[in-house]
Amino acid sequence: MLPLLQRYFAQQALIEDLEQTRSSPVKLLAVSKTRPASDVAVLYCAGQRDFGENYLQDALKKQHVLAHLDISWHFIGPIQSNKTRDIACYFSWVHSVDRLKIATRLNQQRPAYLPPLNICLQVNVDEEETKSGFYLDELLDVIEPILSLENVRLRGLMAIPKVDKPIAEQHASFRKMAQAKKEIEQTFDISLDTLSMGMSGDLQVAVAEGATMVRVGTAIFGERLKNTV
Ligand SMILES: *Cc1c(COP(=O)(O)O)cnc(C)c1O
Repeated sequence: MLPLLQRYFAQQALIEDLEQTRSSPVKLLAVSKTRPASDVAVLYCAGQRDFGENYLQDALKKQHVLAHLDISWHFIGPIQSNKTRDIACYFSWVHSVDRLKIATRLNQQRPAYLPPLNICLQVNVDEEETKSGFYLDELLDVIEPILSLENVRLRGLMAIPKVDKPIAEQHASFRKMAQAKKEIEQTFDISLDTLSMGMSGDLQVAVAEGATMVRVGTAIFGERLKNTV
């Protein structure tokens, strides 16, 4: 079997094991950034439908090559304002909404013939200067304006916590995310179905704290390549 498929099935098995410890399923998002379209096609044949991309131009090329496949594309990278139009047109999900302005632009630019764009708000849970995202104490203020947007659908929260810290602190960061989601649900009387958290290095911890979608790149595709289609 191809090493790519071996790693993919191993991740699937790991996630299935972790699911046993809880009542709700965990979705695997295969993060295909920097990987060739042919790798995406291989996983598609194995049943994978959700793929995550960070670099817009790369992603658009891959989408073009793979247009015949029924893939759900998730944008998970940093978003500049001048990129929102293409993101609104060519993706089903955006995990990295980190400013109200971005949500507003995605809403305006989402084509009317498509269903609402699924979005997660990115949270800078460890308050790192180098990372983007809302701080936890800013979140409640942006929910109402976002809920009023008709062409985007708020699905939940996303975070990229620090990995190089003791396990107990990793748990604490993910737990803060679960609490923030709960607080939003209670305050606005809504239900959010997505906590996008956990990557190759911290997936077990994230799932233990309630992740509903894990974003896995390296553990499936192997060490990262430079950008290529
Ligand atoms: C690259 C990336 C991932 C996947 O990271 P791995 O450590 O390779 O699993 C997940 N989420 C985001 C936002 C990323 O940029």
